[in-house]
Amino acid sequence: MIHSERIQKLNNLPVNNTSNFIVYWMQSSSRTEFNHALEYAIEKSNEIQKPLIVFYGLTDSFPEATERHYYFLLEGLQEVESNLIKRGIKFVVQKISPEIGAFEIAKDAALVVVDRGYLNIERKWRQFLSGKLDCSLIQVESNVVVPVEDASDKEEFAAYTIRPKINKKLNKYLVPLNKRKVNFSSNDYDFTTLNLLDLNNILNEFNIDKTVKKVSGFTGGYSKAKLNLQEFISGKLEKYETMRNNPVYDYQSNLSPFLHFGQISPLEIALEISKTEGQAKKNYLEQLIIRRELSINFITYNLGYDNYNTLNNPRWAEQTLEDHIKDKREYVYSLEEFEQAKTHDSYWNAAQNEMVITGKMHNYMRMYWGKKILEWTETPELAYKIAINLNNKYELDGRDPNGYTGVAWCFGKHDRPWKERPIFGKVRYMNANGLRRKFDVEKYVMKIKNLDIYNN
Ligand SMILES: Cc1cc2nc3c(=O)[nH]c(=O)nc-3n(C[C@H](O)[C@H](O)[C@H](O)COP(=O)(O)OP(=O)(O)OC[C@H]3O[C@@H](n4cnc5c(N)ncnc54)[C@H](O)[C@@H]3O)c2cc1C
Repeated sequence: MIHSERIQKLNNLPVNNTSNFIVYWMQSSSRTEFNHALEYAIEKSNEIQKPLIVFYGLTDSFPEATERHYYFLLEGLQEVESNLIKRGIKFVVQKISPEIGAFEIAKDAALVVVDRGYLNIERKWRQFLSGKLDCSLIQVESNVVVPVEDASDKEEFAAYTIRPKINKKLNKYLVPLNKRKVNFSSNDYDFTTLNLLDLNNILNEFNIDKTVKKVSGFTGGYSKAKLNLQEFISGKLEKYETMRNNPVYDYQSNLSPFLHFGQISPLEIALEISKTEGQAKKNYLEQLIIRRELSINFITYNLGYDNYNTLNNPRWAEQTLEDHIKDKREYVYSLEEFEQAKTHDSYWNAAQNEMVITGKMHNYMRMYWGKKILEWTETPELAYKIAINLNNKYELDGRDPNGYTGVAWCFGKHDRPWKERPIFGKVRYMNANGLRRKFDVEKYVMKIKNLDIYNN
């Protein structure tokens, strides 16, 4: 079922009945399973009796995207293509800025459907198209369990304020999405499209940062995401509560890169997890739904999320960091020193190396990592910039609402005041002793050193 709350008209134009096909501009939900935008587009195609074309525009100028990200994205698109062909739907992938490509192909369209993206750039792309198109543009939201505006009509203060609002709606939205039958095939349509079988060739043509290489531990695509989910449920979920914060081991689901690229739906994950027994399910859904959708709430209602000065941080946090801005910093590092993991702290360096080498830093170390950047930088403004920059460049799941929110959390967002101390003021502080108390941090350092050796 596709709830009307997921569907939004982005302009007031009618369907153009003289055109030959309809277009689904796939951008943020790059999957064929549990994709409300795709199923909605198929419904429309059947209703107005015109075939459906799915379009994807690949730009090489997405801010902070690197070869690592493009590989993962393209591996996912390969699978999208073969699944769409099987359903009788033409998939057109072009090297072009997505909104321009969508506009070009939509010149001959009766109707355009697009999925919903939350970052400023994704919003701007949709705004551009809505102002230019000659036919109806409809956005369908598929990357959240509860549609953002239906969960809350304002920026929420913290998890405890959004949790009851989301929980109240879960029964309504936690429902499967059936695949629609495709009545009008578009496979015979002729469009210029990239050959997705040759990813190296595509990437050679792209002017992107090639210093951040593809990682060996993650391959993109829905099937890999689903396999991860199944392995997580059968082998890790039971211990999720007790072990997820121990970076020596791997008891997280590792689904964040797939979620980031829209290669798996949070709804599908939530439904699968809901079938399991026990307390772990509740803890996992707290992260997947409440925390993740709190991040999306923040980004949606706060367009200044990418700059410390426009974060709309809680007043107490802003004030306390300002009060301590002149506190002496024992260590101050530049972006390059952080990037090259050249701090005095072997734990922090290990976390940074984990991110650079594997493309995914463990959740617990992300908190320590972000807090220390705040502590070892001259101003919170600069610290925010450095943390966002590194996070977006190296994390496979970076450039995501969760990344901006996770970093902002290190500066007091969605948190409460704690005991006052230098530099941090009342913002929550973390130190190396805390790591030692929680887990065998030396073992974690060794684990990353071994990766390092293997990698070189
Ligand atoms: C400084 C900092 C930076 C971060 N950067 C990112 C980022 O760029 N991209 C990103 O997806 N997450 C980010 N996080 C949040 C969190 O660390 C990751 O979502 C998590 O580690 C992903 O691993 P997983 O999928 O194995 O998590 P699991 O524990 O298996 O959780 C399942 C899913 O729940 C959601 N989730 C888990 N923890 C959080 C959280 N704290 N906040 C919001 N959602 C959560 C994610 O979608 C995750 O995929 C950041 C956190 C911090 C403190």
